[in-house]
Amino acid sequence: MDEFGMGSHSINSAYGPVTNGRGFKALSVGGSSGGSALAVAAKLAHIGIGTDTGGSIRLPAAYMSVLGFKPSYDILRKPDENDPTCLTSSSFARVQEAKNRRRVAVLGSKYVVVATDEIQDSDASQNLPSDWPWRKLRSQLVAQRKFTRRVGVPLEYNIAEMHPLVRWAWTATLSYLETIGCEIVPISLPSTRHALSSYYVLAPAEASSNLAKYDGVRYGAVRESPSDDVGGTLYSKHRSDNFGPEVKRRILLGTYSLSAGAMDNYFIQAQKIRRMVQQDFDDVFRMPNPFKQDAEVNMNGVDFIIAPTAPSPPPRLRYLQRSTPVENYMNDVFTVPASLAGLPSMSVPAPRHPDHAWRPEVAVGMQIIGQYGDDYSVMYLAQNYMTNFHPTAGMKRVQTHKILT
Ligand code: GLN
Repeated sequence: MDEFGMGSHSINSAYGPVTNGRGFKALSVGGSSGGSALAVAAKLAHIGIGTDTGGSIRLPAAYMSVLGFKPSYDILRKPDENDPTCLTSSSFARVQEAKNRRRVAVLGSKYVVVATDEIQDSDASQNLPSDWPWRKLRSQLVAQRKFTRRVGVPLEYNIAEMHPLVRWAWTATLSYLETIGCEIVPISLPSTRHALSSYYVLAPAEASSNLAKYDGVRYGAVRESPSDDVGGTLYSKHRSDNFGPEVKRRILLGTYSLSAGAMDNYFIQAQKIRRMVQQDFDDVFRMPNPFKQDAEVNMNGVDFIIAPTAPSPPPRLRYLQRSTPVENYMNDVFTVPASLAGLPSMSVPAPRHPDHAWRPEVAVGMQIIGQYGDDYSVMYLAQNYMTNFHPTAGMKRVQTHKILT
């Protein structure tokens, strides 16, 4: 994976890049949890785990043609205090575990683990109001197999830079959904165009604060002989030695945006954009956000949003060596909005273009985004309707059906 989860191609690591192929044909596996997705795609494991701050589960899943699921922020039970994970950006991702491991539903054999029972069980998900009306309505609909299917297509996601194969896959997915009875509705999420900039201010700010403890005294590797060429204190020597270039870049960016002179112009503005992005999503979903007191069901709203996971199929590593950090950040343009809003989102392998025999370099993923807390519906749509596109994404229906009924 990328060091501290910072990256989109699993190339920011002291141990070298994770690759899918050899030599000049080597492709990006996505990042930051590219190794997890690769291990699942290569059938070394049934399930991989990752922390999705801005797309680190969904992007590798798209590039490796497996499923990648990011649950609603903070919806599962928190692990105990001994959890060793250091989170880079705590307001975006949390490591969570299922209460009862035996009841964890595995959606197929591909790169997802989610505790569906807990999401359904109002006592177990500590963070949702138990009288949330939508929860009941949704479970009744699912029980009666009356699945609501208004699918939103965000026009702002249709960017000029999108690769033609990705646009084709998006259209093919929507046509397919239409044939199975979904209603396709164009929607607008106007603040989306600022989401990426907001994320790349907020995530480094949180990282600079969360990684402050790696000072080589309390946490972090202590080297025998820290390099002498960097002047300064013991702390600065250890920190210069032990962090890779991308992590250093983000710590510096984050420290700057949190400094007194820059705070108002960067951090505060980015937080405002984050609220606007959340509001955009709340305006289009049929289901109200459970945290909003007086929000009502918007019957003209949509149940899901369908958009590509990444603007292009996996790039070659050779190309990435020449790309700038900002070009790499651009890759997260479609995954970051759901992260800012804390929404559940799953990347599923998209339909294959008939003129392109399937090869890893044409792997495209589609994201299903749902309202906060509606994780179950996102999984339901993925499981029942969207996993027949790709041979490696076959799902074992049996396990999840047990939970459905
Ligand atoms: N590509 C994003 C970043 O570099 C994703 C990180 C993540 O989700 N851990 O910040």
